[in-house]
Amino acid sequence: MHCSKCGKDESKVIESRDTGSSIRRRRECIECGNRYTTYERIERPNLAVLKTSGSRELFDREKLKRAIFNSVGKFINGEIETEEIVSAIEDTLYSMGENEVQSRQIGELVLGELAKRNEVAFIRFASVFRQFKDADEFVETLQELRTKEA
Ligand SMILES: [Zn+2]
Repeated sequence: MHCSKCGKDESKVIESRDTGSSIRRRRECIECGNRYTTYERIERPNLAVLKTSGSRELFDREKLKRAIFNSVGKFINGEIETEEIVSAIEDTLYSMGENEVQSRQIGELVLGELAKRNEVAFIRFASVFRQFKDADEFVETLQELRTKEA
C-alpha cells in the first residue's frame, strides 16, 4: 500500500471498520501525514450469476463496482460509496445462501442501495437498468423511491 502523495509504503492504521465483505482501514502515511483509505477483501465462495440472456458467469465484484462507478459515481461519493454499495450487495447475496443469483436481482439490490443514498443516482441507474419504456414506468419508479424514503 503506497501513499498516494509521496509513494512511501509505510503507514499507520488510524481506524479499521469491518463492512462485512471487506475491512476498511483509514491510514496515515508516516512520511508526509497524508491520510488515505484501503480495503482488504474477505474471501468468498464462488457465486454464479444467471444473465437475462440465459448465460452464466461468475459474480465479479470488480465488474459490478466499475458498472456502478461508471454510471453513477459522480452523483455519489465516488470510490468510497461505490465500495460500500458493492460490499452491502455482496453481504445480501451471500447471506441468501444460494450458489446462483439472477443478474436482475443484483440490479435491484443496487437500486435499493442507491435509493437510500442519492435520488439522482437512483433514477440514473434505474433508467439504464430498467430501460424505461414510457413515462408511466418512469413515474412508477419515482413513486417507488418516495415510498422507500417514507
Ligand atoms: Zn506520504
